[in-house]
Amino acid sequence: MVNEYKCVICGKVMDQKYLPMKEWKINGVMCGKCYSKKISEHYPGKHVRVNLPDSNKV
Ligand SMILES: [Zn+2]
Repeated sequence: MVNEYKCVICGKVMDQKYLPMKEWKINGVMCGKCYSKKISEHYPGKHVRVNLPDSNKV
């Protein structure tokens, strides 16, 4: 049986899940798309690379 993880933001089942940062107060896991969106919301002005660091991958 395969565990399917759904993004808490958009509800899509994802292949690669990302852990939200603690200060985002999000309970669950996020897809890469919502993760980068949140990063730009929380850290405007910072240039976020599309390639996320491995440490954020689960
Ligand atoms: Zn998502």
